Amino acid sequence: MTLFRHIGHTSHTKPTTVTNKRGLRVNQQQGGNMIFGSRTRSRTQGTGTFSCPREDGNRRYHHVLVSRWLQAFRLPLMRVEQLGEFVECRSCRSTFPVYVLDAQPGSPVEDIVTTALRHAVSTVLGHNNLTPRDKREAVIVLQRYASVPYGSSDLEIDLREGADQPAGQDLRQLALSLNDRGRVAVLDATVQLVGRNPNPHEHDIAAIKAVADALSLPGDRVRRTLDQRIDQLAMAS
Ligand SMILES: [Zn+2]
Repeated sequence: MTLFRHIGHTSHTKPTTVTNKRGLRVNQQQGGNMIFGSRTRSRTQGTGTFSCPREDGNRRYHHVLVSRWLQAFRLPLMRVEQLGEFVECRSCRSTFPVYVLDAQPGSPVEDIVTTALRHAVSTVLGHNNLTPRDKREAVIVLQRYASVPYGSSDLEIDLREGADQPAGQDLRQLALSLNDRGRVAVLDATVQLVGRNPNPHEHDIAAIKAVADALSLPGDRVRRTLDQRIDQLAMAS
Protein backbone atom coordinates (compact mmCIF):
# COMPACT_ATOMS: atom_id res chain seq x y z
CA MET A 1 0.00 0.00 0.00
CA THR A 2 1.36 3.41 -0.93
CA LEU A 3 0.76 4.90 2.52
CA PHE A 4 3.25 2.54 4.15
CA ARG A 5 5.78 2.86 1.39
CA HIS A 6 5.74 6.65 1.68
CA ILE A 7 5.98 6.78 5.45
CA GLY A 8 8.92 4.36 5.46
CA HIS A 9 11.85 5.72 7.43
CA THR A 10 15.31 4.49 6.59
CA SER A 11 18.57 6.32 6.94
CA HIS A 12 19.67 5.88 3.33
CA THR A 13 16.52 7.30 1.71
CA LYS A 14 16.07 10.87 0.69
CA PRO A 15 13.57 13.02 2.64
CA THR A 16 11.02 14.95 0.62
CA THR A 17 8.36 17.43 1.61
CA VAL A 18 4.88 17.08 0.19
CA THR A 19 1.56 18.77 0.84
CA ASN A 20 -1.20 16.41 1.92
CA LYS A 21 -4.94 16.77 1.27
CA ARG A 22 -5.50 19.04 4.25
CA GLY A 23 -2.72 21.36 3.18
CA LEU A 24 -0.34 20.27 5.92
CA ARG A 25 3.25 20.09 4.90
CA VAL A 26 4.50 16.61 5.58
CA ASN A 27 8.12 15.55 5.64
CA GLN A 28 8.30 12.02 4.41
CA GLN A 29 11.03 9.51 3.93
CA GLN A 30 10.50 7.88 0.57
CA GLY A 31 11.17 4.22 0.00
CA GLY A 32 11.45 1.30 2.40
CA ASN A 33 8.51 -0.48 3.98
CA MET A 34 8.67 0.73 7.54
CA ILE A 35 5.79 2.31 9.40
CA PHE A 36 7.61 5.14 11.19
CA GLY A 37 8.18 8.59 9.83
CA SER A 38 8.16 12.19 10.88
CA ARG A 39 5.89 15.01 9.89
CA THR A 40 5.54 18.71 10.48
CA ARG A 41 2.44 19.55 12.49
CA SER A 42 0.93 22.92 13.42
CA ARG A 43 -0.97 23.22 16.70
CA THR A 44 -2.81 26.19 18.21
CA GLN A 45 -1.18 27.05 21.52
CA GLY A 46 -3.42 29.95 22.53
CA THR A 47 -5.96 32.47 21.27
CA GLY A 48 -6.88 36.04 22.09
CA THR A 49 -7.30 39.52 20.65
CA PHE A 50 -4.48 41.63 19.22
CA SER A 51 -4.00 44.76 17.14
CA CYS A 52 -3.46 43.44 13.58
CA PRO A 53 -0.77 45.59 11.89
CA ARG A 54 -2.10 44.75 8.44
CA GLU A 55 -5.68 45.79 9.18
CA ASP A 56 -4.91 48.36 11.88
CA GLY A 57 -7.65 47.14 14.20
CA ASN A 58 -8.40 44.65 16.97
CA ARG A 59 -8.78 41.11 15.68
CA ARG A 60 -8.82 37.55 17.00
CA TYR A 61 -5.57 35.62 16.71
CA HIS A 62 -4.24 32.09 17.06
CA HIS A 63 -0.75 31.51 18.46
CA VAL A 64 0.52 28.49 16.52
CA LEU A 65 3.43 26.16 17.31
CA VAL A 66 5.05 24.23 14.46
CA SER A 67 6.84 21.04 15.46
CA ARG A 68 8.26 17.88 14.00
CA TRP A 69 6.51 14.76 15.27
CA LEU A 70 7.45 11.15 15.10
CA GLN A 71 4.51 9.17 13.77
CA ALA A 72 3.43 5.63 13.00
CA PHE A 73 0.52 4.72 10.72
CA ARG A 74 -0.13 8.48 10.38
CA LEU A 75 -0.67 8.76 14.15
CA PRO A 76 1.54 11.25 16.02
CA LEU A 77 3.63 9.50 18.68
CA MET A 78 5.85 12.19 20.15
CA ARG A 79 7.11 15.68 19.48
CA VAL A 80 10.73 15.59 18.32
CA GLU A 81 11.52 19.29 18.07
CA GLN A 82 9.89 22.68 17.76
CA LEU A 83 10.52 24.22 14.34
CA GLY A 84 8.80 27.57 14.70
CA GLU A 85 5.90 29.57 16.05
CA PHE A 86 3.79 32.43 14.78
CA VAL A 87 0.65 34.47 15.37
CA GLU A 88 -2.10 34.20 12.74
CA CYS A 89 -4.78 36.89 12.40
CA ARG A 90 -8.14 35.12 12.12
CA SER A 91 -9.53 37.96 9.99
CA CYS A 92 -6.95 38.58 7.22
CA ARG A 93 -4.98 35.34 7.89
CA SER A 94 -1.65 37.20 7.88
CA THR A 95 1.01 35.54 10.01
CA PHE A 96 3.35 37.51 12.30
CA PRO A 97 6.30 36.88 14.58
CA VAL A 98 5.13 36.35 18.16
CA TYR A 99 6.47 39.73 19.32
CA VAL A 100 3.50 41.32 17.51
CA LEU A 101 1.49 40.52 20.68
CA ASP A 102 3.68 42.95 22.67
CA ALA A 103 3.80 45.69 20.00
CA GLN A 104 2.02 48.99 20.52
CA PRO A 105 -1.23 49.24 18.52
CA GLY A 106 -0.54 50.97 15.19
CA SER A 107 3.21 50.21 15.16
CA PRO A 108 4.53 48.72 11.92
CA VAL A 109 5.31 45.01 12.26
CA GLU A 110 6.62 43.12 9.26
CA ASP A 111 4.44 40.07 8.64
CA ILE A 112 6.03 36.78 7.54
CA VAL A 113 4.97 37.26 3.89
CA THR A 114 6.89 40.55 3.81
CA THR A 115 9.97 39.01 5.46
CA ALA A 116 9.86 36.00 3.09
CA LEU A 117 9.59 38.29 0.06
CA ARG A 118 12.52 40.36 1.26
CA HIS A 119 14.55 37.15 1.35
CA ALA A 120 13.21 35.99 -2.05
CA VAL A 121 14.05 39.24 -3.83
CA SER A 122 17.74 38.51 -4.33
CA THR A 123 17.07 34.90 -5.41
CA VAL A 124 14.71 36.18 -8.07
CA LEU A 125 16.42 39.38 -9.19
CA GLY A 126 20.00 39.03 -7.99
CA HIS A 127 21.36 37.53 -11.21
CA ASN A 128 20.03 40.33 -13.41
CA ASN A 129 21.61 43.69 -14.09
CA LEU A 130 18.70 45.74 -12.88
CA THR A 131 17.89 49.03 -14.58
CA PRO A 132 16.42 51.87 -12.50
CA ARG A 133 13.07 51.03 -14.10
CA ASP A 134 13.36 47.35 -13.08
CA LYS A 135 14.02 48.49 -9.52
CA ARG A 136 11.06 50.87 -9.51
CA GLU A 137 8.79 48.07 -10.70
CA ALA A 138 10.17 45.67 -8.08
CA VAL A 139 9.46 48.22 -5.34
CA ILE A 140 5.86 48.58 -6.60
CA VAL A 141 5.35 44.80 -6.38
CA LEU A 142 6.82 44.67 -2.87
CA GLN A 143 4.69 47.62 -1.73
CA ARG A 144 1.61 45.74 -2.92
CA TYR A 145 2.36 42.77 -0.64
CA ALA A 146 4.24 44.29 2.30
CA SER A 147 2.61 44.95 5.66
CA VAL A 148 5.04 47.83 6.31
CA PRO A 149 6.20 50.82 4.22
CA TYR A 150 8.77 49.66 1.62
CA GLY A 151 11.01 51.88 -0.50
CA SER A 152 13.94 51.81 -2.92
CA SER A 153 16.51 51.91 -0.10
CA ASP A 154 14.90 48.76 1.38
CA LEU A 155 15.25 47.05 -2.00
CA GLU A 156 18.95 47.96 -2.17
CA ILE A 157 19.48 46.45 1.30
CA ASP A 158 17.61 43.26 0.40
CA LEU A 159 19.53 42.79 -2.86
CA ARG A 160 22.88 43.37 -1.12
CA GLU A 161 22.23 41.20 1.94
CA GLY A 162 20.65 38.37 -0.02
CA ALA A 163 23.59 38.18 -2.41
CA ASP A 164 25.81 36.55 0.25
CA GLN A 165 23.32 33.88 1.24
CA PRO A 166 22.50 30.53 -0.32
CA ALA A 167 19.18 30.79 -2.18
CA GLY A 168 16.21 29.48 -0.26
CA GLN A 169 17.85 28.69 3.08
CA ASP A 170 16.08 31.39 5.09
CA LEU A 171 12.92 31.00 3.03
CA ARG A 172 12.69 27.34 4.03
CA GLN A 173 12.73 28.37 7.69
CA LEU A 174 10.29 31.24 7.15
CA ALA A 175 7.88 28.99 5.23
CA LEU A 176 7.25 27.14 8.51
CA SER A 177 5.59 30.32 9.77
CA LEU A 178 3.39 30.80 6.70
CA ASN A 179 -0.06 29.37 6.10
CA ASP A 180 -1.22 28.30 2.62
CA ARG A 181 -2.48 31.79 1.83
CA GLY A 182 0.89 33.30 2.76
CA ARG A 183 2.90 30.82 0.71
CA VAL A 184 0.75 31.45 -2.35
CA ALA A 185 1.08 35.22 -1.83
CA VAL A 186 4.89 34.91 -1.80
CA LEU A 187 4.78 32.86 -5.00
CA ASP A 188 2.40 35.33 -6.71
CA ALA A 189 4.67 38.24 -5.80
CA THR A 190 7.76 36.31 -6.93
CA VAL A 191 6.22 35.70 -10.35
CA GLN A 192 5.39 39.41 -10.63
CA LEU A 193 8.95 40.33 -9.62
CA VAL A 194 10.25 38.46 -12.63
CA GLY A 195 8.78 41.33 -14.56
CA ARG A 196 6.82 42.14 -17.64
CA ASN A 197 8.39 39.60 -19.94
CA PRO A 198 5.62 37.35 -21.36
CA ASN A 199 8.33 34.84 -22.32
CA PRO A 200 10.31 34.43 -19.08
CA HIS A 201 13.95 33.33 -19.45
CA GLU A 202 15.19 29.96 -18.23
CA HIS A 203 16.99 31.54 -15.26
CA ASP A 204 13.80 33.41 -14.27
CA ILE A 205 11.82 30.17 -14.26
CA ALA A 206 14.62 28.47 -12.27
CA ALA A 207 14.51 31.28 -9.68
CA ILE A 208 10.72 30.97 -9.34
CA LYS A 209 11.05 27.21 -8.93
CA ALA A 210 13.74 27.67 -6.25
CA VAL A 211 11.37 29.94 -4.28
CA ALA A 212 8.41 27.55 -4.76
CA ASP A 213 10.58 24.64 -3.64
CA ALA A 214 11.67 26.50 -0.49
CA LEU A 215 7.98 27.19 0.20
CA SER A 216 7.08 23.51 -0.41
CA LEU A 217 4.61 24.52 -3.11
CA PRO A 218 3.87 21.81 -5.67
CA GLY A 219 4.86 22.16 -9.33
CA ASP A 220 1.29 22.39 -10.64
CA ARG A 221 0.64 25.41 -8.42
CA VAL A 222 3.76 27.07 -9.88
CA ARG A 223 2.65 26.33 -13.45
CA ARG A 224 -0.85 27.70 -12.76
CA THR A 225 0.54 30.92 -11.26
CA LEU A 226 2.96 31.35 -14.17
CA ASP A 227 0.22 30.72 -16.75
CA GLN A 228 -2.07 33.27 -15.08
CA ARG A 229 0.71 35.85 -15.07
CA ILE A 230 1.60 35.22 -18.71
CA ASP A 231 -2.12 35.61 -19.63
CA GLN A 232 -2.28 38.90 -17.70
CA LEU A 233 0.82 40.18 -19.52
CA ALA A 234 -0.55 39.11 -22.90
CA MET A 235 -3.83 40.98 -22.21
CA ALA A 236 -2.01 44.09 -21.02
CA SER A 237 0.22 44.31 -24.08
ZN1 LIG B 1 -5.52 40.89 10.19
